This record gives sequence, C-alpha cells and structure tokens, in this order.
Amino acid sequence: MRDISCRLLVIGAGPGGYVCAIRAGQLGIDTVVVEAKKLGGTCLNVGCIPSKALIHAADEYARVAHFASGDSPHGISLTAPRFDLGRTMQWKDGVVGRLTGGVSALLKKANVKIVEGWARFLDGKTVDVETEIGTQVIRAEQVVIATGSNPVELPALPFGGPVISSTEALALTAVPRRLVVVGAGYIGLELGTAFAKMGAAVSVIEALPRILPQYDAELTRPVAERLRALGITVLTGAKAKELTAAKDGLVVERSDNEAVTIEADRILVAVGRRPATDGWDLEAIDLDMDGPFIDVDDRCRTSMRGVYAIGDVTGEPMLAHRASAQGEMVAEIVAGKRRAWDRVCIPAICFTDPEVVVAGLTPEAARAANIEIVTDAFPFRANGRAMTLVSDAGFIRMVARADDHLLLGIQGVGAGISELSAAFSLAIEMGARLEDVAGTIFAHPTLSEGMLEAALKTLGQPIHI
Ligand SMILES: Cc1cc2nc3c(=O)[nH]c(=O)nc-3n(C[C@H](O)[C@H](O)[C@H](O)COP(=O)(O)OP(=O)(O)OC[C@H]3O[C@@H](n4cnc5c(N)ncnc54)[C@H](O)[C@@H]3O)c2cc1C
Repeated sequence: MRDISCRLLVIGAGPGGYVCAIRAGQLGIDTVVVEAKKLGGTCLNVGCIPSKALIHAADEYARVAHFASGDSPHGISLTAPRFDLGRTMQWKDGVVGRLTGGVSALLKKANVKIVEGWARFLDGKTVDVETEIGTQVIRAEQVVIATGSNPVELPALPFGGPVISSTEALALTAVPRRLVVVGAGYIGLELGTAFAKMGAAVSVIEALPRILPQYDAELTRPVAERLRALGITVLTGAKAKELTAAKDGLVVERSDNEAVTIEADRILVAVGRRPATDGWDLEAIDLDMDGPFIDVDDRCRTSMRGVYAIGDVTGEPMLAHRASAQGEMVAEIVAGKRRAWDRVCIPAICFTDPEVVVAGLTPEAARAANIEIVTDAFPFRANGRAMTLVSDAGFIRMVARADDHLLLGIQGVGAGISELSAAFSLAIEMGARLEDVAGTIFAHPTLSEGMLEAALKTLGQPIHI
C-alpha cells in the first residue's frame, strides 16, 4: 500500500475531528482524517444524538400515557398506549445514519480524504493505520489528536452481562423491567429518566450527597422533585459495591453504611468518561499531560511542535460543542490565521426533566473567584407560556458584576429551556449587561420572557412578579 503524505492529519472523526477536517479542507489544506469506528464519533453514534432521540421518544410516550391515565388537564383522553423500544431504536438509528452520512458527504465536499482504521503513532508526524486491506502509513506536516473519550469502568462492576455503559443502553431493544443507574451525573439521569418514562422501575445510586453534583442545589431541586414524581428511587451518599452472586442485583452500601441489595435486570454504570489515550502509542510521542488529559495551550498546541489536541482528550468540559469550536480554531491556525481560545462561555445542558442550562459563572463560582455580584432569578410559575405548557417548574437566574452589571452567567432549569441556551451564551459572549437584556424586546408569550424578567428582577425592577 502506498504511503500517504498530507499537510494535516486528523485522528478521530468525532465532533472535534470532523469539524476540524471540514474547515481545514474548506481552507484548501490537504487533509486526511482517520476514524477507527464511525464518522461522527461518540456524539453522533453513541452520545448526544441517540440519547436525545431516546429522551424525545420517552417523553412522547410519557405524555400519551399520562393522557391515558385520565388525569390530563387538557381534557384529552385515550386508551392504553404501547411502547415498542425496538421500533424506537430503528428510528434513532435512522437519525444517526442521516447525520453520519451527512458528515461523510461534507468531508468529501471539502476534499478531505477519509481513512478507516485504527491509527498508531510511529513518531510525531507519522502514523500507521490498520485498515481492512492492510497497514497504511500516513505522514503529515501537522497532526491533530481528536481521539475523544470512553466510559469509565468501575473495577468492581466491569462492563459485561447485566452491567452496561451508555453505549449499550442506547442499543437496548427491550425496556428492562428493573434498571439501576450508578452515577447521577447528566448521562445517568438523562437515560434513567428516559427508561423510567418507558416503564422501567429505575433506581439511581450516587456516591456524593446529591444528584448532578457539579451544579448547585437550587438548579437541581426541580430535577430531584421530578425524579420523585416519576417514581425513581434515588440513593445519594451510597456506593455501588458488587453484583449479587446470581447477577440479578446490585449490592449497595447506603449512606448509613448498611449494605442493601437492589434487584436489577440491567445496571447502567455512568460514572464519567475518561480521555481515550490508550492503544495508539502516545508513548511514542511523549506529550506533556495534564493529569489523564493531553496538555494543550490556548491554541490547542501540545508540547510537541506541529501536534495539536482537541476535544474530550484535552479535558473538561467534555462537550461536543467545545470539541467542535476547538477543531474549527485549530484548522484556521494550521491555515495561518491568528486565532486563540478566547471564548467566554461554554454552555452545558442536562437534558433531564426539567432541563438544566448552565452558561458562564454560577453565583457560587463567581463568589469563589472573589467577584462582587448581583444575582436573582425569575420563576416560570409567573410565566404565561410555561403555564400553557403545563410545565411551570424552574426558573432563569442571572449573575452579573455588581459594579457595571456585566453578565457573568445565566442559568436556568425548566421544560424546553435547552433552546434558550443560545440566548444565554450570546448575551454573555457579546458582553451584554443586565440593562442590555432588559432593553431587548422578547416575543410574547414565550419562555424566553423569563430571561427578560430575570434581568429586570436582578435590577430590582420586575414587572410580572
Ligand atoms: C450518552 C452521552 C450523551 C452525551 N450527550 C451530550 C450532549 O447532550 N451534549 C454534548 O455537548 N455532549 C454530550 N456528550 C459528550 C460528547 O459526546 C463528547 O463530548 C464529544 O463526542 C467529544 O467529541 P470528540 O471529537 O472529542 O471525541 P469523540 O466524539 O469521542 O470522537 C473520537 C473519535 O476518535 C476515534 N478514535 C479514537 N482513537 C482512534 C485511533 N487511534 N485511530 C482512529 N480513530 C480513533 C473514535 O473511534 C471516535 O470516533 C454525550 C456523551 C455521551 C456518552
């Protein structure tokens, strides 16, 4: 097989790598992308997209099941609906297929060469790739490592049998009767909630004292209330110990140190993700590390000249849109443009019920950084649109600098609030002040009016409360 020489080699075609490769190709850079599994990476194949598809299907089913219970405030009733997870998975796979096919077409349109196989470093500018037809050597002037991340395995609960990761959970074709979720981070809660809505009896085990421990208690309270209403058992301060001998349950050490057994058909371990740094001879290039992650500077440059790293392999927040933004930046740097990481805000969303959005600094984080702030929140129970949607739990909260009211953060929790994340980020990224938001006309009746009211309330001038 003839060696390939190129100007830019991208290893991994997740949202970091494929965006980098497309932009590089558009900029006229001779680019090769290597992908061992499927174009689109974790995000399109076993992450963001399939999980949101499943959450949507579960929401739809829960809605009609609620109508069937005869308890609908809208006056809608119907007879018992049925849920066919196998069919849902086929539909989800169709959505994934359309998106990954789109990535392939976009890469080709940008004249990017795609090599399928597992890449290993020979030196900082050379890899060999195990392809189906033999070993392909690729030499590049510059290399981007975009190998992503993998689910963390618990030593006492290795994946296999009833113990599954999010990847297997997103491929189940039957709803487990009893599901235990280990880890109450966003992935565990999103999937746990979806399966509960599909009819599974769900228990969530979390070692820390509360769910979604990376967010403040105020933001996560409505989610905890909804989990209770859905009949999900949440054990916080509890540790998953081991499978029962018959592999039909999980032994858990509760916060009072008592060991209990929770019967389960499936145990979803969602305790985090670790950077994918194994199996591609990272040792051959001996890069500086930042803990388990590849250390990068504000241009995503590693400690080796001409070698960049982007996305989950470079650390938190491990989010698709951060990976893509880094990828786009690196492509432009390789093309000779002056770029550096200057983003103020990387929004994060939990697609729980209700959804949680965190953009910029929370009050806690701002105070920890010794910034004097003003902060206040507007509840959706005072928002007309939320009432018409029969989901008025939650609020929007503003965090601004006390002296000049520059917005430092906007957070919220509420049904459908994920779509407001763009407005939150835009305001922060553009350096808006509370007065700028308060001086903007928000269309009525929308949930986004909560953003206007939150700004007004933080200024001490609320209208609707
Ligand atoms: C269930 C779940 C839900 C999620 N939901 C969201 C969400 O709602 N929003 C959000 O922003 N993020 C979400 N994420 C996280 C998101 O998927 C990741 O942050 C994102 O995919 C990271 O992109 P990446 O390009 O860094 O890596 P990845 O998407 O992990 O892609 C890396 C690619 O590199 C390939 N690769 C690795 N090593 C090699 C090698 N040696 N040779 C060739 N190819 C290689 C892999 O096969 C993989 O395809 C979710 C994740 C999961 C698991």
